[in-house]
Amino acid sequence: MNIPDREVDRHNWETMTPLAAAIVAAWVVDRAEEVRRVLGERLNWQPHRQLSLRTLLIGLQMLGMVGRRSHHRQVRLALRSLPFAAQRALGVVDERGTVVSYRQIEKAMTQIARILESPTVLVDHDHDKADPETGEVFPCPVTCPFMEADHDWFATKFAYAAMPEDIPRALDMSMDWTDMQTWAKQIFRFEPDAVTDPKDVDDDAHSAALTAVAPKSKRPKGPLGPDGRPVPSKDQDGRWGHRSARPGVDPFFIGADNHTLLGVPGRDGTQFAAFLYGAVLVPASSYAGDAAMKLLRLARYHGVEIRDLIADRGYTRLNPDRFWRPAHLLVEEVVMDLTQNQAKPKVDYTIVMDEGQPEERVVRIARIAGSFFTDGLPEELTGLERPARNADREERERIQKLFDLRARFAFVRHDRPSPDTQRWAGPASRYAGFKVRCPNNDQSMRAAHKRPLTSCVKGVQCSCSEVVVIDDPDTDRERQRHIWGTTKWTKSYNRRTVVERGYSDDKYQVTNFNRASVYCFGTVKHSIYYSPIIVARNIQVALRWYRDHDMVEPWGLDEICRPDYKLPPELGGVHVVEDNLDLPSEAEPADVVEEGAASAEPAEEGDEGDEDEDEDEDDNTDRPARPGGNRKQRRAAKPRSRSSRPPDKPTKPPPRRATKPDEQ
Ligand SMILES: [Zn+2]
Ligand SMILES: [Zn+2]
Repeated sequence: MNIPDREVDRHNWETMTPLAAAIVAAWVVDRAEEVRRVLGERLNWQPHRQLSLRTLLIGLQMLGMVGRRSHHRQVRLALRSLPFAAQRALGVVDERGTVVSYRQIEKAMTQIARILESPTVLVDHDHDKADPETGEVFPCPVTCPFMEADHDWFATKFAYAAMPEDIPRALDMSMDWTDMQTWAKQIFRFEPDAVTDPKDVDDDAHSAALTAVAPKSKRPKGPLGPDGRPVPSKDQDGRWGHRSARPGVDPFFIGADNHTLLGVPGRDGTQFAAFLYGAVLVPASSYAGDAAMKLLRLARYHGVEIRDLIADRGYTRLNPDRFWRPAHLLVEEVVMDLTQNQAKPKVDYTIVMDEGQPEERVVRIARIAGSFFTDGLPEELTGLERPARNADREERERIQKLFDLRARFAFVRHDRPSPDTQRWAGPASRYAGFKVRCPNNDQSMRAAHKRPLTSCVKGVQCSCSEVVVIDDPDTDRERQRHIWGTTKWTKSYNRRTVVERGYSDDKYQVTNFNRASVYCFGTVKHSIYYSPIIVARNIQVALRWYRDHDMVEPWGLDEICRPDYKLPPELGGVHVVEDNLDLPSEAEPADVVEEGAASAEPAEEGDEGDEDEDEDEDDNTDRPARPGGNRKQRRAAKPRSRSSRPPDKPTKPPPRRATKPDEQ
């Protein structure tokens, strides 16, 4: 683990002390009021009143900020690393010196996972859910506000709670997905068929390519999950996925796809904080359209109206019925890259004239990459190809200029008589400002000679000056504001590189987020333990924003993060105190008193030393508890000297190592 020098940059949240992290985490948890309410209503922690839901969530949300791995054992370690007064204030240690036990936290976290697995409905459907006679389930219309408190809601809720109000929210978002590998070890054989294409298109090339590179294996054939796909590891939700090849990285992985929304700069280049606006976790290779739709619905639930949605190329091939048509209704504009195949010109596409015209006629237009062009588009401009990946700047500029030139031949949006109808004006028409000169339109021919000339023949019908209504459902998948490949489009699309930076933040800088960072099985638990990483990320983005804009951050971290900071006695950890009473409680002594529990000596900040030890001790969260294994003998509280071993070092021998993640 990379431990930065605390003296170097106190603004950098990586230098956060546990106390500072707890104070920020408390701020986040208190803002995620809905989470506390929904979980609080259903939690049943009779034996564990000492541990409040709020404290538990604070411990959880601290993890990313103090660079701990995400696991319930770490929740306790994080809480125990707080100054003693804060531990007392949070109820981690009670007045008799009893310390919240590892088992209590594990049980509580398991209960939260169960609640999220059978989610509470927050907003019900506003339409008939199924045909009363046939029982056929109706699909939700785009406007359906349905929302349930599931794991993605949980993670996204905290993402929003970690965005301070005084930092402007982005208007435009980019959408991307990345792999989230489970730490479970591969047991069963890899089967190329197991990697379904999440893009929902018939793509023989996809499966053929996978078969070709599939590693040979002598492992046994695995069982099938309820979704009919092989379960290759002990993680019942982990599925085979495919990720883009990077040096030194296996293209196949077991785990989940993580779909995210990230704020990007505005259309005019205005900078916005690159907060993470949502995360949806699905078993790897699940249909990406459903996950993306959920992402958009979650954003809408949080009151976000997305203006430009910049979609990664992976999404553009999604089925228009299942994703793009509804998506176009949820966001104002879409910006996306297209595959060369999608960008193939379809000339001779015929359309029916606008009803308002004297008579209905059929005219010829060219449809290229979701945009409409006049049939007078010169031949050499129809089949343009985007610059190759390794093209140099000159080449890129040259090709971009051709795309810009072609764009002049495109129809422009004219007016919108009704929400379903869009009129388009031909490029040589008055409405388009005579972008091109067409021999069939004398007025356009009088325009400046530097305007490009169409390839039309005088007297032969062309569509250059027509105003048309184009009803083309196939275009939904490619339709976008700027014409694909042009300078304007490139500028707009390139805003999404913020996402790439976002992931590297996640994975390498913020929390050393990687395969073993989220140390549990199952999509629900993954989301729960991924949420501290999102929180850490958004808080870091906020801190950077405050620093770059000379604003004062609301937590007073400069003061708190000073290495010699002492919790003022009159404060008694007031930031983290407030309530400790979320749960129904009746006084009854906690049954577990842990060894060294009454340590009057708080653990000093950042016991990173525990980290490595703990890695070896950490056990599989899904393994049933060994009877009596975690029960520590009751022991009279006895103050411990400062020089003794760290408070959390367990006395039991490390568990079997059978479930260690394999190091591939
Ligand atoms: Zn619905
Ligand atoms: Zn023409």
